[in-house]
Amino acid sequence: MLKSRNAVVTGSTSGIGLAIARALAKEGANVMINGFGEAAAIETERAGIEADFGVKAVYSSADMTKPAEIAAMIKDAETKLGSVDILVNNAGIQFVSPIEEFPIEKWDQIIAINLSSAFHAIRAAVPGMKARKWGRIVNTASAHSLVASPFKSAYVTAKHGIAGLNKTVALELATFGVTSNCISPGYVWTPLVEKQIPDTMKARNMTKEQVINDVLLTAQPTKQFVTVDQVAALAVYLCSDAASQITGANLSMDGGWTAA
Ligand code: NAD
Repeated sequence: MLKSRNAVVTGSTSGIGLAIARALAKEGANVMINGFGEAAAIETERAGIEADFGVKAVYSSADMTKPAEIAAMIKDAETKLGSVDILVNNAGIQFVSPIEEFPIEKWDQIIAINLSSAFHAIRAAVPGMKARKWGRIVNTASAHSLVASPFKSAYVTAKHGIAGLNKTVALELATFGVTSNCISPGYVWTPLVEKQIPDTMKARNMTKEQVINDVLLTAQPTKQFVTVDQVAALAVYLCSDAASQITGANLSMDGGWTAA
C-alpha cells in the first residue's frame, strides 16, 4: 500500500515508534528510524526492518532537543531515501513530579522533545510534501492532549500543544494533498510507561500494583493496555489514500478514557 513512499519516524528505536516504523515498512515504505539506544541494538533493528520487509531502512541519531539536528535529519532522509512523504512525530519522554518541585531542565526538555521537535521536523519536511502534492504527518499525541493528570505538567502542556500545532498544520496544508493528524493513545505498555512507575509510586506513596491498577488502568474503562501494534495500525491507515479526507483530527485510542 505504501510502496515507493519514504517515511521518517522520530523516536523509533523503541516502543510505539518502532512498531510504527515496522508497520510502515511492512506496507512497503522505506523508513528512517531515529532515537537513542545501544548502537548494536539499533543496528539490529535497522537491519531487521530491511531483512523482514525488503525496504530500505536508515538510521538518524538526531537529538530531538536540537533544532539544527532535526533539520539535518530531514535533509539526510531526503538525500538517502529520495523524499520525506510520511513524517511521524513520535519521540517523547515523561517526567512525573509535583509542580513546585518540577525540575526546570525537565520542563524544557519535555517541551523540546514532545512539542518543539514536531514543529522543527514539520517545518523542514513540508516544502517537499507541498511540491509533490502528497504528504502524511502523524503526531503521536496522547490522551493527555485532551485531559490532564496531576504531576505531569510539562507532558500535558506539550501534548495539548501538539494538538494545536496539528490543527494549524492541517489547515495550512489542506489544499496540497498533505494531511496532519494526531493519534492519542491511552496507556500503552512500553518502556516509557514502565519507567514512570517508580516515580509515581513515590509521588503517590503507592505500591507498583496500586500504580498499575489504581492510577494507570483506573483511567482506562476497558482495563487493558493499548498495544503498540494497535497504534501502528492506525498510523498506517492514516497514511493510506483511504484516509485522505481525515485531517486535523485527534483520534483517541484510549479504551474509553476520554469518553468519561
Ligand atoms: P519509549 O520510551 O518506548 O520510546 C521513546 C522513543 O523516543 C525512543 O526511541 C527514544 O530513544 C526516543 N527519544 C527520547 N528522547 C529523544 C531525543 N532527545 N531525541 C531523539 N529521540 C528521543 O516511549 P513510547 O511509549 O513508545 O512513546 C512514544 C510516544 O508515544 C511519545 O510521544 C509518548 O508521549 C507517546 N505516548 C505513549 C503512551 C504510552 O502509554 N506509552 C501513551 C500516549 C502517548
